[in-house]
Amino acid sequence: MGLGFIALAFAMLATGGALASVTENNLLPWPGFWLYIHFSLGIGGYAILWLGLAALSSHSWRRYRIIAFIIPILWLLSGIWSGFVMQNTLRAAAFHFNSFFFLLAASFCIWQDRHIEPLCSRWLLSLILLGSALLYGGECYWILAGAWTVQEIAWAFFAQIICNFSLVLFVLTMLSERAAFQLKQASERDELTGIGNRRFLFARLPPLAQPGSAIIMIDVDHFKRANDTFGHLGGDRLLAVTAQTLQRVLRAVDVMARFGGEEFVVFLPDISTQDAREMAERLRCEAAAQEIDLGDARYKVTISIGLVCLDQPGCSWDEWIKLADAACYQAKQQGRNRVCQHQAATVAP
Ligand code: GH3
Ligand code: MG
Ligand code: MG
Repeated sequence: MGLGFIALAFAMLATGGALASVTENNLLPWPGFWLYIHFSLGIGGYAILWLGLAALSSHSWRRYRIIAFIIPILWLLSGIWSGFVMQNTLRAAAFHFNSFFFLLAASFCIWQDRHIEPLCSRWLLSLILLGSALLYGGECYWILAGAWTVQEIAWAFFAQIICNFSLVLFVLTMLSERAAFQLKQASERDELTGIGNRRFLFARLPPLAQPGSAIIMIDVDHFKRANDTFGHLGGDRLLAVTAQTLQRVLRAVDVMARFGGEEFVVFLPDISTQDAREMAERLRCEAAAQEIDLGDARYKVTISIGLVCLDQPGCSWDEWIKLADAACYQAKQQGRNRVCQHQAATVAP
């Protein structure tokens, strides 16, 4: 959608520019009519360009789309009413001011949406739009102040062409960076639960497993039974809701991932043994407290948790995860719905 608008905008601007030059040289009949047409194409072109860039930036562009139509219509109506379009200086100033406004708005849009999608190319695109907007703003001022020469206008025009080329280049850069970003996100996300998968976990674990952090292994109790009772779709829902519930308990720095079928691993960085134990207990209680709505039934799941606190350097992440798994197995054996902590004395780096 965004690219379509941008292509339309450039087509309008190119047609408007060509018409302006033909009209300027008195090559067309009814020059007054063509003046209005190329003025409208120039004004509308930058409005549509802004719309295209906003659509490319995020989904919220629809809220503002009416502005892209109202402003050019207002310009045209005021031009017809006051006749300023027939005066070269005022028409040029209006076109430059309109371009300044929409380019500035586009620059702001692209920059503002960086929180939704942190792409480096956003900064570059936003900067080039800002530069282009300021150029138009400066030109508008020079035109109104009468402080310009043909040579200066020619240079400014040349600079605008370079800005437009850069704009297209950075739009394409942003699209390719976005594709890579989305691919990475998709490859690290578990489709069913919406949380990270193993790849996500290992990409976020520090290179060395250093003391002062903890690993938690979570396994849903009697999940096969839940599957047999509610079917696989019901089981899927139990998993998704449980994952979201557990995620809400964690701190922002904690990393949780779906490790296998109904198993989750949590990495707790910078945490004391006492706090890690409390966190594991909180996870267990939250899971047990939730009552999951399965349409025609409600179900409560419980989880067994294996906790291991990293208390010595030299072991790999695989080894720590194995120990957390062993502790989880112990929790199962002791009757499920409980937390078991692996005792450090048995670790052999
Ligand atoms: P325990 O308390 O000992 O953990 O018993 P359990 O039944 O949870 O353990 P078990 O390992 O025997 O069963 C796990 C089940 O999880 C088996 C498998 O069919 C189911 N499962 C694995 N992945 C999925 C999934 O994505 N969706 C659903 N619905 N079920 C899954
Ligand atoms: Mg299991
Ligand atoms: Mg299980």
